[in-house]
Amino acid sequence: MRKEDTTNNILVYVETVDGAPVKAGLEALTPAHILSEKNGGEVIAAVLGKDISEAAKRIAASGADRVITVDSEELAVYNLDAYADILRQIIEKEKVDAVLLGGTVDGKDLAPKLAAVLETAAVSDVADIKIEGEKTFFVTTEYSGAIYCDVSIDDVRPQIATIRSGAFKKPEGASDGKLENESLKVSDDVVKAKVKDTVKEITEAVNLEDAEIIVSGGRGMGSKENFGLVEQLAKILGGEVGATRPAIEEGWIAKNHQVGQSGKIVSPKLYIAAGISGATQHLSGITGSDYIVAINKDEDAPIFSVANVGIVGDAMKVLPVMIDEIKKIREG
Ligand SMILES: Cc1cc2nc3c(=O)[nH]c(=O)nc-3n(C[C@H](O)[C@H](O)[C@H](O)COP(=O)(O)OP(=O)(O)OC[C@H]3O[C@@H](n4cnc5c(N)ncnc54)[C@H](O)[C@@H]3O)c2cc1C
Repeated sequence: MRKEDTTNNILVYVETVDGAPVKAGLEALTPAHILSEKNGGEVIAAVLGKDISEAAKRIAASGADRVITVDSEELAVYNLDAYADILRQIIEKEKVDAVLLGGTVDGKDLAPKLAAVLETAAVSDVADIKIEGEKTFFVTTEYSGAIYCDVSIDDVRPQIATIRSGAFKKPEGASDGKLENESLKVSDDVVKAKVKDTVKEITEAVNLEDAEIIVSGGRGMGSKENFGLVEQLAKILGGEVGATRPAIEEGWIAKNHQVGQSGKIVSPKLYIAAGISGATQHLSGITGSDYIVAINKDEDAPIFSVANVGIVGDAMKVLPVMIDEIKKIREG
């Protein structure tokens, strides 16, 4: 699409899991408002799946001006070709200026596919949006967060971007978005691979992306046994357990707990890092945290440069004190 053929509206694909909108999808409504307010457009959310009416209502109440739902059996299970085809139909009808997706696994899968189908461009892992005059810049990071890049899509439309989880807060306050049901069908022959069965991996569910409290341990924990202190503190605080890559490689905890560039990007209210040096590959996953507490025996450890509270000390001595003190407070 050419720029002059689009409206000022912005589309956000809000993914759902078990009938509820995911946090990263709701967060993407905030940059959508920044873009739409530039030229007075609307924020339209698209929700695809089966039995998604409750999720659509929540999205309408959480900042979308309009919510388009496509509720059908053929969308019951995520399929790249099918979802991209339905989104293409919505985009072509609505002629939106930009399409934003939460930076989830599905969002990162869909964005380049949509860009290819619509012959436009996609930007991944957007951490901020800057508007300078007529120009919009999607701010991304390179080299594990060491360099910021301002990316603009000048000629083709829609602009497509995945938004980094935690980079924006969900819109504040209630809204009264309009719900619209569309009965769109997946086009013939677009689905190249069909999901015949899904098998759930038998590991504990780890929802680091949505966690409000995360306690993470690194190589400095020294052993699997000591790593148990990280798990104890997380449990007593009602949080999730995170880890650095070395802690996982040592076999102290499963891979799905990894935080960082090649793990999960997190944005809790409280992030406690024990025995973690603060390598850029780890820091790039935690900068969306509201409050960071770091425990490290090396006072020059880079983690202290991002910490709100730094405790210079032996984690094996500090963590038991924290656990005991919190227990005392909890037991009243
Ligand atoms: C392409 C690529 C992708 C990567 N992706 C990731 C990723 O997603 N996530 C990730 O975490 N890493 C990732 N890494 C690895 C990353 O570069 C670092 O090696 C890693 O984050 C360091 O982990 P660490 O802090 O646990 O270990 P170290 O850097 O070894 O730090 C251990 C820290 O523990 C402290 N310490 C030691 N003993 C104690 C004690 N008793 N009490 C308190 N502190 C103590 C030390 O002072 C030190 O600061 C990636 C690397 C590459 C090349």
